[in-house]
Amino acid sequence: MKKILSSCLFAALVILFAAAFILNAQAAGMEKNISGSVTKLAYQQSGNTEEIRIYTSHANILRQFVLEPNSDCKNYRIGIEIADAVIQQNGAFDINQGSVYQIRYANKQNPQAASIVIETTKKPDYTIKPSGDGKYLSVILNGSVSGQPAQSPAPGATSGKPASTSSPATTVPASNSQGTGTLGPVSVTVQGNTCLVRFEGINLNTAFGNTGKKPAIELREKEKILQVTLPGQDSRFSEGFIPGNSVVYGVLVSYNKELNSTIIRIVFDDAVTYTHEISGSSSVLKINRGSSGNTGSTGNTGVTSPTTTPAPAATNPPQTGNDTSRSDSSRASVNASFSGNSVTITAASTSGYRIYTAGDPSRIVIEVPGTVLPGEKTMGSGALYQKAVLSQMNASTARIELYASELPQWTVDESATGLKVNLNRSGAANIQAGDGDDVALKLIGTNIVGKYRKYADKIIAENDVKNNAYAFMFPADLIDLGQGSVNINNALISTVTTLTTPSSSFLKIEKKDATKEFSIVEGSSSNELLIVAKSGSETPSKVPASNNTGIVGNINIRNPQSSARGKLVVLDAGHGGSDPGAEFSGYLEKDFNLDITLKLEAILKQKGIDVKMTRSTDVFVGLEERAEMANSWGADLFVSIHNNSMPEGMKGSMTFYYPTSYKGKTYARMILDNMYDKLNMGAMGSSGLRSANYVVLRQTKMPAVLVEVACMSHPDDLNLLKSEAFRQKTAEVLADSIIQILNQM
Ligand SMILES: [Zn+2]
Repeated sequence: MKKILSSCLFAALVILFAAAFILNAQAAGMEKNISGSVTKLAYQQSGNTEEIRIYTSHANILRQFVLEPNSDCKNYRIGIEIADAVIQQNGAFDINQGSVYQIRYANKQNPQAASIVIETTKKPDYTIKPSGDGKYLSVILNGSVSGQPAQSPAPGATSGKPASTSSPATTVPASNSQGTGTLGPVSVTVQGNTCLVRFEGINLNTAFGNTGKKPAIELREKEKILQVTLPGQDSRFSEGFIPGNSVVYGVLVSYNKELNSTIIRIVFDDAVTYTHEISGSSSVLKINRGSSGNTGSTGNTGVTSPTTTPAPAATNPPQTGNDTSRSDSSRASVNASFSGNSVTITAASTSGYRIYTAGDPSRIVIEVPGTVLPGEKTMGSGALYQKAVLSQMNASTARIELYASELPQWTVDESATGLKVNLNRSGAANIQAGDGDDVALKLIGTNIVGKYRKYADKIIAENDVKNNAYAFMFPADLIDLGQGSVNINNALISTVTTLTTPSSSFLKIEKKDATKEFSIVEGSSSNELLIVAKSGSETPSKVPASNNTGIVGNINIRNPQSSARGKLVVLDAGHGGSDPGAEFSGYLEKDFNLDITLKLEAILKQKGIDVKMTRSTDVFVGLEERAEMANSWGADLFVSIHNNSMPEGMKGSMTFYYPTSYKGKTYARMILDNMYDKLNMGAMGSSGLRSANYVVLRQTKMPAVLVEVACMSHPDDLNLLKSEAFRQKTAEVLADSIIQILNQM
């Protein structure tokens, strides 16, 4: 049953997350009232598109254009001037969603116009038209959301772009017309996401002009250029540039004297594929966004299969640069200013910066190498963080830490003068960052450990190797993870996405390392669970397959053997030899203790667990000696087995831990819970879990638990202990508990 559910999990997740993103998109509307004859700006996402509504009764577009990124502004800008409209106060409207960074509005005179600038992180492919009711102008950004989160381009990604300024258009609607143009026989047109470059009257498969040489078509993927080389010089061509669209930046035509060739360079920013077709006597290059995996250098006959797969999004920020060799005098100072939900970091250079999360406590860390802070300081809280600390991490790196118990989502804008880190409420809930070494994440909730023990067998975990992801499905009673995405960017995971339905919460982890798998362990308080990385090199268990899905019913989401192996448990059969322990009706505690402990040893060894015994026969061993044995063997866990003598009427199991040992207490509780559940020994209720200053608990250096299996003083329990079957069942429950504990270590 569980296996079937499990194999369906990812299919269910795909559907649910898809639904969630649509819901998110619909919910992602924002608006801002402004004064004048433009009264309001509104932004919303819907599926793949974004819409900006400019509320005005004026519909005559005076001018519209697209500006490419340049040294003043790293983003694209759509400029729209609305004739006769008036804006009374200039301003800006921060969006930071989808591909839209900000919308600015300003008044212009001579002639009178409202100027609206939409700043986008991607090359825009837009249309503008009045709404049906005439209340607003609708600017639609097509396909700007799909596959590419709003993210600043990776450093260096902007180099090599043609320096285009603007391409004015005149009428409403404008459709995609900004990508069309002609330069001699070369014309560029746009059909949806396809860019067509037509060579009028030129067949690129045949010798060109009177040179006798064939043209060459070369896809230079690294340089992101599709280059057509025409031998010789053709008077029909003039040097120049045709602006492109969202697929290509544009087409450059130039004559290279040295090569005596006319070079046509089609420049793009993402991977593209192209096909070469002959239409009449003309060659047509059909260019699509995407990567074919083809080597691309296709020569005259080059035809690569077009694909619509989007190119990968911008890569992670670069790792810390090598700035340690800088002298002090060359280190630039850095400053951070906090405003609303953003932190602006100004420095001579922020190159090589890193942003990641760290745990204990949960925080976002921004490292700027090659910089020094004027002095360490702690700033107050912002809406999405409780505290900001600026410090010098080491001689060459300054650090800004934003402490946030609920991690916000963050994006980074880079500029010539520094970085702007924008924070947004993520929508994901009850998640904190882990240390990134072993702990990938923390799940937070009141008594979540208790709930975990109750619901552990309802948790489904799934490794999606193909998509480099790992997913958990939790019952809603265990945790509410909200709905959203958070960048974690520690050594283990890049991003987590959550989704909550009335019955379940889903957690999808985007892994850094495809070989990693994750599991859940109890945290250092009853209010946290840890999601930890399992080692990728673990070998399959020696246990028969039928045992693999969990021995103890309540914690079974991973192979119980995998991390228990390689750890040593020391078993301590209480009393022995001249020390009989409790004695009732001729039965001696030492004999029950030894019998149960030997049975326990046999089960653990059969399951591949390393076990050592403080005694295996009926001999006397001192208490200090027992502790010393476990210490010298380097045990990971010490479990002492006893049976009880209690006042009349009392029966059932008890477990003991050393008073200050949190782990001891956790493990004692786990064993007791299993004794209660599996052996029906719960008569003591909550008083069954106790701390005690016993020698074997105090002097052992590892977590230690002392178990009182049953009360020999009570006739019911004594009858149980007389039963071989009960002693065997007890050993099995203890073995399962020990494996469960070793798995958590
Ligand atoms: Zn005892």
